[in-house]
Amino acid sequence: MASIREILSRDPDGATVVVKGWVRTKRETKGTVFLELNDGSCFRNVQCVFDAATLDANSRNALERAGTGAAVAATGSLVSSPAAGQTLEVKASALELIGEADPETYPLQKKQHSFEFLREIAHLRPRTNTFGAVARVRNRMAFAAHSFFQERGFQYIHTPIITASDAEGAGEMFQVTTLDLDAIAKGGKSVDYARDFFGKRSYLSVSGQLNVEAYCMALGSVYTFGPTFRAENSNTTRHLAEFWMIEPEIAFAELPENMELAEDFLKRLLSSALDDCAEDLEFFDKRIQSGLRESLEAVRSSKFAHMSYTDAVAELEKRKDSFEFKPFWGCDLQTEHERFLTEQVVKGPLIVTDYPKELKAFYMRANDDGRTVRAMDVLVPRIGEIIGGSEREYRYDALVGAMKAKGLDPAAYGWYLDLRRYGTAPHSGFGLGFERLIRWVTGMENIRDVIPFPRAVKQAEF
Ligand code: ATP
Ligand code: MN
Repeated sequence: MASIREILSRDPDGATVVVKGWVRTKRETKGTVFLELNDGSCFRNVQCVFDAATLDANSRNALERAGTGAAVAATGSLVSSPAAGQTLEVKASALELIGEADPETYPLQKKQHSFEFLREIAHLRPRTNTFGAVARVRNRMAFAAHSFFQERGFQYIHTPIITASDAEGAGEMFQVTTLDLDAIAKGGKSVDYARDFFGKRSYLSVSGQLNVEAYCMALGSVYTFGPTFRAENSNTTRHLAEFWMIEPEIAFAELPENMELAEDFLKRLLSSALDDCAEDLEFFDKRIQSGLRESLEAVRSSKFAHMSYTDAVAELEKRKDSFEFKPFWGCDLQTEHERFLTEQVVKGPLIVTDYPKELKAFYMRANDDGRTVRAMDVLVPRIGEIIGGSEREYRYDALVGAMKAKGLDPAAYGWYLDLRRYGTAPHSGFGLGFERLIRWVTGMENIRDVIPFPRAVKQAEF
């Protein structure tokens, strides 16, 4: 059995093929029945044409019952198609009905469904054009990310998902426990975490960074790519409670090298999307976000602009009145600010660096000005922040000082501080939110529509 993707790349030489897939549509005119089959291997369907009169009883019965959504196997010969928009079709001689889909109850009928509705049937939405395409792009982007790093000698490190340290030092974590909370609440006792599974409070990780730094200080160029969790109570189109993050970390590297890596990485991912997912992108360009391909091509051949946070705020202050949230030095950049900078000011990707230390995590290297840290956020049109990263504070005393200033107990980070105690060296890295990337390259608006089974506030179905 060959996939539809493979079949559609062949010549119409009349050879016998067996196509297995799901019926997208069935049409009938004057005894000829057209089944559009899709098997997910590519965007396109293959059209199978049946002359009902020539079929045996089994096939005729199968054809009768094979409606939208049914799983079938069609056998026939591969011929050139007279229909517009397709070069090949299957002149079918037999049909097997593998799994029926009752048209009375099958939720995916031919009409357009809203993304909101499709979110409620997340187990069936991959059978639509849009979600099939999203899944294929996602797959290809993961492959491109691994390829990019592997080709450059980066080693893939599997960092833990359960952690007892808070990577950001800023809450918003899901707690992991095996304690019987009901019993504790009934007993009116306070919780004794010494009796919990790990003997202390533990959480789902918000980032693999601290762990990957340890391997960076031994293997040089490393990355992690895995699920991360944030209990952000923010109901936005940009935030998930469970998302995937790609986090490279490079030894002996300062911020400029990190910025270069981020730029090369994003361009490589875009190239792969444009070249390897051309058919799916054509659909997104036509149906989801017009001008998508052009905008991605422009980024691929651009040079990313650089700007300090201080200069960025100065730009924003010139246009104060166009923002809901008034910008000032020291403010966290809002998405409206980020988008203004990348879309209006530099008209392309922008790396903003050297943020006020109050806005960023404790592990970022302090600048000599005493006010800013060597942070970098990569902002792209339509999305705003897509990457957050920094040069790390590798000086022991400065790191301990930064922890204390943020109210963190250095004793809780003993192993992390060891990396600065023994053979410390400059190093830098960043985190790319995988779903933000997929939103960017597909033009899909809501982050819940670019991950198979989204987890967000009050949403953990399936
Ligand atoms: P934002 O300000 O957009 O919430 P952040 O500053 O919290 O982002 P970082 O902590 O720097 O983000 O995380 C690194 C990257 O992870 C971000 O640049 C973004 O791509 C992604 N990211 C962060 N939070 C989420 C989330 N809740 N859902 C999906 N992706 C996220
Ligand atoms: Mn956030």
